[in-house]
Amino acid sequence: MADLAPPETIRQAVTVLRCEHAHPIPEPSAPIWTPEPCTTCGTPYEVTTRIADMMPGPPLYKPLADLLDAVVEVWPDGPSRSTDTAASRRRTAAHQIAQQLLGEAA
Ligand SMILES: [Zn+2]
Repeated sequence: MADLAPPETIRQAVTVLRCEHAHPIPEPSAPIWTPEPCTTCGTPYEVTTRIADMMPGPPLYKPLADLLDAVVEVWPDGPSRSTDTAASRRRTAAHQIAQQLLGEAA
């Protein structure tokens, strides 16, 4: 999931937040016993559990997804010549939240 442009990173986070993940349980004989990535969105089990650890629970997932989605909706298509620093701060904050959810933050 690395190396995505900020809008794609945010869209990915929205997808992860909106999915009702289903992680298949591997065979007990598997060498490393970790549930497999989500069959719907492909999110690794580590990401799903990290988000669950970071947030109080699913009731916040939808409003946060809606908020991130709203920021991406108005993302400029090309290099922004806008002097709207408030919009720029919102984009930066949304990108940082998405990175933290996906585990890409430094
Ligand atoms: Zn999923």
